[in-house]
Amino acid sequence: MKRLVLKTILRLGRYAVLPAVVLACVILAVWLMAMDRYTITALVTAPVVFSIFLGALALAIGLLLLPSRKHRDFEADEATAPGLWAMWKELDHSFVRSRRTLLIDTEFNASIGEVRRYAGLCGQRVTMTVGLPMLMILDARAVRAVVAHEVAHARLRHTSGSINLADFIAASENVFLYANPEWTITGRIVRALLHSMLEWLEKEYRVLSRENELHADLGAAEKVGRAETARALVLVEACRTRLIDLVFAPLEKEVLGAIHAPRPPFERIVKQLADIWAPEPMAAAAVAGLSREHDPDSTHPPFGKRLANLGYTDIPEIDGVGISSIDQLLSRDAAADLAARFDREWRKKAQDWVSIGR
Ligand SMILES: [Zn+2]
Repeated sequence: MKRLVLKTILRLGRYAVLPAVVLACVILAVWLMAMDRYTITALVTAPVVFSIFLGALALAIGLLLLPSRKHRDFEADEATAPGLWAMWKELDHSFVRSRRTLLIDTEFNASIGEVRRYAGLCGQRVTMTVGLPMLMILDARAVRAVVAHEVAHARLRHTSGSINLADFIAASENVFLYANPEWTITGRIVRALLHSMLEWLEKEYRVLSRENELHADLGAAEKVGRAETARALVLVEACRTRLIDLVFAPLEKEVLGAIHAPRPPFERIVKQLADIWAPEPMAAAAVAGLSREHDPDSTHPPFGKRLANLGYTDIPEIDGVGISSIDQLLSRDAAADLAARFDREWRKKAQDWVSIGR
């Protein structure tokens, strides 16, 4: 039952508040019908019934007021990222160009999301986001396995979950337009109820996400093979650790003590590529990943569990990375321009931190 509620919310997003609105309308209708027969009871319960109805009305009106989401990442068309688009097309059987968007951001990560307008009546748009650091540090084989994992999420319909959950939470909070929790008792009661419901929802959502990750890994293995999927998992785990150790941790330290903005992250990544790929520390980082304490709030299962899901009880023997995928997957200009552009944006922000810190 709980799973059903969660799945309905993940499917319908903000529209999942509609049953509450319908219920409130039914209560009002029953109350109106009871008015003649049980006039006294009806009059006594009037404040409660009207509160419920007005709260529901606020929910319904709020549905229309929710702002649409706009992204601020770089949108890559086929001229900018020909290789990446070709990879997506090859791995995704239901590929329709007009319904796909490719974004590139600054994370060492990839994700896929789906936006359904008007509860899916107006079709859906799938957006894949791939981080530039991933394209710089992984080779094309590993990126292909990562893309296959994301495509599997979309095929298995895992994609609308997080956006829809956030939308549902925002839509539910619209009830406070009517009942302000600071001033009204109704608002306070609703806030307490909503709070415990959202806590439960988020916990259930994390459990479901972790299951989804394992299914997406198996889906990727069907497309690119188990060995390639496991190789990508190991490389992502190890390279993330190396990237933090060699680039982000030193950078953070420098920012704290800096008078001028330090050298920006993408310049550093380019300089450190050979060190990031160095086989021995990379192997050590992968082994350390197996015993790292797992964050209970994570939407991803532990590294060891993901490997075991693919049939590996230990870290498999893999080919290391010798060449970045970026020249194969992005156009030549885009590869250089994007790094410079992200570095420029970073510098602007860093200059602000530095001047605030002074
Ligand atoms: Zn995933």
